[in-house]
Amino acid sequence: MSPVQTVRGPVDDPGATLMHEHIFGLSPEILWNWPDIPEGWDLEERAREAAGKLNELKAAGIDTIVDLTVIGLGRYVPAVQRVAEQTDVHIVAATGLYTYDAVPPYFGNRGPGTLFGGPDRLAEFFVRDITDGIGRTGVRAGMLKCATGRPGITPGVERVMRAVAEAHRATGVPITTHSESATRNGLDQQKLLAAEGVDLDRVVIGHAGDSTDLAYLEELIANGSYLGMDRFGIEFTSLPDRVATVAALCERGHAGRMVLSHDSYCFNDRFDPDVVRRRHPNYHLLHISRDVLPALRARGVTEEQIHQMLVDNPRRILGGGS
Ligand SMILES: [Zn+2]
Repeated sequence: MSPVQTVRGPVDDPGATLMHEHIFGLSPEILWNWPDIPEGWDLEERAREAAGKLNELKAAGIDTIVDLTVIGLGRYVPAVQRVAEQTDVHIVAATGLYTYDAVPPYFGNRGPGTLFGGPDRLAEFFVRDITDGIGRTGVRAGMLKCATGRPGITPGVERVMRAVAEAHRATGVPITTHSESATRNGLDQQKLLAAEGVDLDRVVIGHAGDSTDLAYLEELIANGSYLGMDRFGIEFTSLPDRVATVAALCERGHAGRMVLSHDSYCFNDRFDPDVVRRRHPNYHLLHISRDVLPALRARGVTEEQIHQMLVDNPRRILGGGS
């Protein structure tokens, strides 16, 4: 396997890995214009706080997180670097674009078929993040991300997905998606990515774990992808349902095709932390270690299967395939 790119440089073995998390979710335009918002943003303070959370995670047995904060979610890697300097947890940065609908205005008026035309910069930017590094940080992205929400594959989403596929073909970096399980659109994502020449073995269908529909999940697996069972703690699918789904898929022999995570943020200016804590008390980085793994064991999931989902599968995905 090839080394995994992290915020502090390449590592040979990522160890136990949460494949879909976020360090910071930021709204730069809001922060520029209304810096006194109650959520507040102080880089040093928030970095210290995030590193504290990651150090607790390390003590709970997790070695690496993949930070899937891409363009559209307020990615700011210099702040993530400050976190990485204060923790032993490896952080993998990502590139790609998060939209459910149109591309951001910067891209919307340039590129083939747009008002002003010219080359499409999306794939060029993604490749640059992977090969040269993000911004001026030198941090190289280790994962590509695209999203499909309830509206499905809109023209904007399609453009992002094709650019992500192009960057994947150029670099070999794996792809993860944000999918909408309620509309089973992970299947549409697979179809488009496969048509773009992507080996589906290099794709994680994110948020698949929101679904309890085993037929849908087994279809995604049969098509060759990994499933992101990656929103433990977000209560629109309950813990017992999420656990029962993972246990059932393990029983059917699919532990080699699932990865685990929370989709949590150390700090996100788009949430009111008190409201989130009240409504989703388990939506935090330690939920899997503290609550989910014991619940899976109680449902008959073996240590070997847990090791596959937390260690072997992430290593295979991040390290460049089988
Ligand atoms: Zn996410």
